[in-house]
Amino acid sequence: MSHLLPRTLYLSFTLCAVWSVACGGGATAPESSAERAPAASVPATPSAAHDIDTAAIDASVAPGDDFFRYTNGSWLKKTEIPPDRSSYGVWSVLFDRAQQRTRELLEKAAAGNATAGSDERKIGDYFAGYMDEQAIEKRGLEPLRQTLASIDGIADKRALASWIGQQLRADVDPLNMTNFHTDRLFGVWVAQNLNDPSHNVPYLLQGGLGLPDRDYYVQSGARMDDIRNAYRTHVANVLKLAGLDKPDERAAAIFDLERRIANTHATRTESVDVGKANNPWKQDEFGRRAPGLDWNDLLAGARLNTSPVIIVWHPAAFRGIAALVQSVPLDVWRDYLKFHELDRYSRILPKAFADESFAFYGKTLSGTPQQQDRWKRAVNATNGALGEMVGKMYVARYFPASAKTQLQQMVASIVAAFDKRLDALTWMSPKTKASAKAKLTSLKVGIGYPDAWRDFSKLQIVRGDVVGNAERAELFDYEYRLQQLREAPDRGQWWLDPQTVNAVNLPIQNALNFPAAILEPPFYDPQASAAARYGSIGAIIGHEISHSFDDQGSQFDATGRFSNWWTPEDLAHFKAASKKLVEQYNGYAPFPDLHENGQLTLSENIADVAGLSAAYDAYRATGGADDRTFFVSFGQSWQSKEREQVARQQVLTDGHALDEYRADTVRNLDAWYPAFDIKSGQRLYLAPDDRVRVW
Ligand SMILES: [Zn+2]
Repeated sequence: MSHLLPRTLYLSFTLCAVWSVACGGGATAPESSAERAPAASVPATPSAAHDIDTAAIDASVAPGDDFFRYTNGSWLKKTEIPPDRSSYGVWSVLFDRAQQRTRELLEKAAAGNATAGSDERKIGDYFAGYMDEQAIEKRGLEPLRQTLASIDGIADKRALASWIGQQLRADVDPLNMTNFHTDRLFGVWVAQNLNDPSHNVPYLLQGGLGLPDRDYYVQSGARMDDIRNAYRTHVANVLKLAGLDKPDERAAAIFDLERRIANTHATRTESVDVGKANNPWKQDEFGRRAPGLDWNDLLAGARLNTSPVIIVWHPAAFRGIAALVQSVPLDVWRDYLKFHELDRYSRILPKAFADESFAFYGKTLSGTPQQQDRWKRAVNATNGALGEMVGKMYVARYFPASAKTQLQQMVASIVAAFDKRLDALTWMSPKTKASAKAKLTSLKVGIGYPDAWRDFSKLQIVRGDVVGNAERAELFDYEYRLQQLREAPDRGQWWLDPQTVNAVNLPIQNALNFPAAILEPPFYDPQASAAARYGSIGAIIGHEISHSFDDQGSQFDATGRFSNWWTPEDLAHFKAASKKLVEQYNGYAPFPDLHENGQLTLSENIADVAGLSAAYDAYRATGGADDRTFFVSFGQSWQSKEREQVARQQVLTDGHALDEYRADTVRNLDAWYPAFDIKSGQRLYLAPDDRVRVW
């Protein structure tokens, strides 16, 4: 079963809304985040409203025929997608708000004269440096001179292994954020051991590609051919800008090396299969299992040589890449490393480099016509490098303790509702049920921001040293992860910054993160009615909780150990129940020639049904009875419109169904029918037996 971003709440491109080196080397995500980036001219949706948005409703549409258009029809008619975006809706409103607020914090910090070494001074200096294009222009390639010289100094393959090791960073995350991309030869992730919940362990992932995925190198077809040709030209252009001779010839060799690396890579579908990834290798096994590379030098360079065991996520790629290190000439490796150094930091190099980077990654690869304003890129970069430091200031200003308390109560009530629903399941064996309940009881739910803040006091930020700041922030983060190898796993650790508009389920930690920036109107308004709150943020909370119990979540027990706790019979029943939901979504056709893929979106659709059901029960348990407001609030939490190209792309590749059909989840809940007097024969009507109740 294919799963794209199975654990997050929303689309992939909101995930990595960070155009920065800290965000995976930046092939797809950063520029495409522009699709949901703000524009000041956009009229605000009901951000100030304290309840449902009555003006958005189109009463001429029957709720039983089209619930999405009943709840959002008037808004759809009067709203135009801004020209610099491919979609617009409530998510954009929240994203814009968080970005604008962050901008104000950063500009204030940059203009102020905070104490040297303070958090405020650091984020101000980081932001100001990024904004100072003149200074960047003036310094030219000077910031990278030393690194490029050290690449020239690599004398043999052992030195090469050591150099590669020294350059590894904690820039991937296969389980929480499902971020598998790094342009460094390997990616490091530090987290609790899949097989031993009491210890942290390093995970090593495949890497080394400039394009987003192996498919870009190996798939045939005219579109991929065009991208490959454009990438080869891009590589040559970067080398040319850096003054290297024979750029075309060298670019061809670099591309060929990457193509050979890509051929060793696991596919995206293979990468999300934790069973295939759980390969603990001892230090002395690397040389035998992946000959050709001086692993002792590489692991020492990466300071991973004291970990008795490393989990190798992509063993075949490790074998393949090690063999390439041996067989490909050192000259080619040096050129390859130089290109990636230049390319990685292009956006904070002189304009010619930044423009070249956007021309390829933004325009050609992501179809974004226009580059984001400098301030937006600077906000994203500062978030990427110093995210939690910025987040600490963000919540101090924008997230009151009262909101945290109210949301914690809502979470507790939804967990209790979920627990009751588990009790009531007739098909699940007592053994599986007991494991599920144990997992639910120990679920750790983070609201707004982490309990403990990271200490950034040892991180040095120098005003004006833009590349150096980025490098130091990456290294600081890497050393923070190395330190965690010497500490016990922390289930309270956060993987999203408070100013991020998203939510995530963390399977190894058996925990959830709901950042402050998503706990905002219209999703969450402390002054809204309980019906409106439970229908919106309540269903979002329920959605994330239920991911702990789906086909993916069931691979991890209450302690985060990788072990399936479902009996085969229970799993068979779960799959049969899911089948009805697959068919339901297959029946949605946004375009005459394209229908939703019920299988691709299954995990998310299950989470939507289960989350809405638990939120509804929790709402009724408060004594409320305003079902209409509850359901309208849910329908409006999917208020959005998108351009046809994006909608088509999402249907083909994303694990989340279109927002319109997510709003129609309501048809699976019995309570929706009397609330809107839904009659048999209406388009969304389902006979009681056809309503899907997985949980
Ligand atoms: Zn989800």
